[in-house]
Amino acid sequence: MVRAEGVVKSFGSNTVLKDISLTVRRGEVMCLVGPSGSGKSTFLRCINHLERVDGGRLLVEGDLIGYRERGDKLYELKPKEAAKQRRDIGMVFQRFNLFPHMTALENIIEAPMQVKGQRRAVAEQRGRELLDRVGLSDKAAAYPGHLSGGQQQRVAIARALAMDPKLMLFDEPTSALDPELVGEVLDVMKGLAKDGMTMIVVTHEMGFAREVADSLVFMDGGVVVETGAPREVLADPQHARTRAFLSKVL
Ligand code: ATP
Ligand code: MG
Repeated sequence: MVRAEGVVKSFGSNTVLKDISLTVRRGEVMCLVGPSGSGKSTFLRCINHLERVDGGRLLVEGDLIGYRERGDKLYELKPKEAAKQRRDIGMVFQRFNLFPHMTALENIIEAPMQVKGQRRAVAEQRGRELLDRVGLSDKAAAYPGHLSGGQQQRVAIARALAMDPKLMLFDEPTSALDPELVGEVLDVMKGLAKDGMTMIVVTHEMGFAREVADSLVFMDGGVVVETGAPREVLADPQHARTRAFLSKVL
């Protein structure tokens, strides 16, 4: 589903991703952890083509992200083509980024109507199903300002799902939440994983990683330091840098 082959990304002279290679199979959940500045968000943004990859290859379902390959040459996709690729990839951020002047339901149906041209009635029906799925069927008419952080994040997840993504990317989805609200968001993500959604999750919630993830990747300084089954990496990290990091977050 997702394959990174030697992905390189620089900002000016700062090479943030040095050589990232990894694979996520369909239906798998990968948790990505690492210190601040190690390049986790940048990597997710590259998958979603919010950032352009400078070297290596990044493929989602066999499609090269951001480029078209002809012979041995790569041509950058036009913005419209890139936007089309991005539609199939849902992203949830640390900050919920809901439109404040729209209700929960309006937030969810906006993209399906504007981008996919869905009729309002169709989008609303699906939107209500998604609100139900994230446990918020009674909040369709609520504005984000009247919802808790956990509720807002669940609306943000429903909004991403409304585009029927093949892949969901989560960038520290619970780290802006009060501790007592973290569980309700993780529960929704667990449900998604159980239903077979392919997910890449940047998180420091090691309980979630242990319970839900198929693989755990530890990144530091723009490289993958260690990767493996979560239980094994957590119980017996092979690298000193992984051990040092885990001792801080566990
Ligand atoms: P955190 O845990 O703090 O979220 P991270 O692992 O997500 O960290 P990134 O946000 O990917 O790290 O940042 C990696 C490096 O890339 C940092 O040094 C950051 O300053 C740099 N960087 C990220 N985005 C940009 C940008 N748009 N322009 C210039 N530098 C950037
Ligand atoms: Mg980040």
